Amino acid sequence: MSFTLDKGNGETKKRVVVLGAGVIGLTTALRIQEKGLYQVEIIAEILPTDPKTYKYTSQWAGAHHRRRCIGLAHVAMERSKINKWIRYRLQDFRRNVEIIGAWRRCFRRLRQIEYYASEQPRPNTLERMPGFEEVPKDRLFLRAVCGYSFDTVTIDVPVYLNYLLSRFLEKGGSITRGHVQHIQRVLEGGSYPFPEDVEIRRNEAVTSPDAVIVCVGLGARFLGGVEDRSIYPSQGQTVILRAPWVQFGKSFEGESDEWIYIIPRKGGNVVIGGTQGVDDRYPAPRPETTRDLLRRALELCPELDLLPIVVEDACGLRPKREGGFRIELEYRKTSDGRRRISVVHNYGHGSKGYIASIGSAEAALELMEIGLK
Ligand SMILES: Cc1cc2nc3c(=O)[nH]c(=O)nc-3n(C[C@H](O)[C@H](O)[C@H](O)COP(=O)(O)OP(=O)(O)OC[C@H]3O[C@@H](n4cnc5c(N)ncnc54)[C@H](O)[C@@H]3O)c2cc1C
Repeated sequence: MSFTLDKGNGETKKRVVVLGAGVIGLTTALRIQEKGLYQVEIIAEILPTDPKTYKYTSQWAGAHHRRRCIGLAHVAMERSKINKWIRYRLQDFRRNVEIIGAWRRCFRRLRQIEYYASEQPRPNTLERMPGFEEVPKDRLFLRAVCGYSFDTVTIDVPVYLNYLLSRFLEKGGSITRGHVQHIQRVLEGGSYPFPEDVEIRRNEAVTSPDAVIVCVGLGARFLGGVEDRSIYPSQGQTVILRAPWVQFGKSFEGESDEWIYIIPRKGGNVVIGGTQGVDDRYPAPRPETTRDLLRRALELCPELDLLPIVVEDACGLRPKREGGFRIELEYRKTSDGRRRISVVHNYGHGSKGYIASIGSAEAALELMEIGLK
C-alpha cells in the first residue's frame, strides 16, 4: 500500500522521506518539494539550528564557489547529464535565494585571486569563471609562479542553512529529529522509525514512504543497511576572524600539499583555512594548526593585519568518498516483501558539498522519479 496525501484537488501526493539535514539533505528536500507532487519529510539527528558539532559538516564550510571544483561522481546515470548539473550553478543559487530576498543576506560577490607555486595546465576550468584574468607576473604573491583572478560568490553558511530550513518548513515540510540506526526502520516505520515510537506504530496504521533519499554525509559509513566503507573523513581546520575591511578572496597552493585560503563572508567575518587531513578523525581544532594558518594567511594577505578579532577556531570533517560522491537509485523491499521502495543515495560530496548541492538535488529528484514510475 502506498501512503498518499490529498493535494486538495482530488489528486494525492506521494510521500518522500529525506534522511539528513545538511546542505545536501535540505537542498534536495526543497527541490523535491518544489515539484508540488510530493509530501516531503526530513529525518535527521542534527539540524542547522543546533550547536556546532563535528557530526554535522555543513556548519564548518568556507564556503566559496569555484568552477574548478567539479568532483568525480559515481552515478548510475548518464555522465554528460550529471556533468551538466554539477557544473557552474551560480545562477541557480541566485534564483533559489533571490525569490525571498535572501540573496543579499547569504551571498557575497567578490573578486577571487588564486596563486600557485607551480605552472598550471592551460586551458583550465577556472577560465570559465566570469571576469577571468591572468595575474601579471609583477603582481604575483612572492612564492607564486602564476595566478588567476575571477568573479565569484562566497556563502555565509550558517545564514544559508537556516534559510534553507525555514523555507522548507514554510512550504509545508516537516522534520523528525533522531538518529536512525538502520535504513530498514525508515522503510517500514516512515515517520516513526525510532524504538520509542513502538506504541504509535502499534496503534496507528503506520505506512511506508514511497521513496527515501539518503543524504547523511559521513553517516553513510555507519547507517545500517548502507554501511559504505568507501566514505571517510577529511578534517578541515579554519579560523574565523572579524575583518569586514577585507574585500576579496585569496588562495595559494604551494609545493607538496601546502594550501591556504581566505574567504570573506557577507556578514563581515573572514574564514581562513586550507587543511586536508585525509582520514583524520580528530574532531577539534589543534592550536598549532591555528597558529600556522594565521601566520600563512598574514603572509598571503597583509591586509588582515589591522588587529582583526578571532571569532572562532573551528574544524569539520569533510565526507570524502573513494571514487567520488554517490548518486544512485536502488530498490529496497519491506521485510514482508510486499512493498518495493525507491532509495536514492546522495552523499559523499567531500569538499564540494555547497558547490554541488543544487546539481545533485536535481539528479536525486530525477532518479527518484524514475524509481517511482
Ligand atoms: C573546513 C571546510 C571547508 C569547506 N569548504 C567548502 C567550500 O568552500 N565549498 C563547498 O562546496 N564545500 C565545502 N566544504 C564541504 C562541505 O561542507 C560538505 O561537502 C557538505 O557540508 C556535506 O554536506 P552533507 O549534507 O552531505 O553532510 P552533513 O552536513 O554532515 O549533514 C549530514 C546530515 O545527516 C544527518 N545524519 C547522518 N547520519 C544520520 C543517521 N544515522 N540518522 C539521522 N540523521 C543522520 C546529520 O545529522 C546531518 O543532518 C567544506 C568543508 C569543511 C570541513
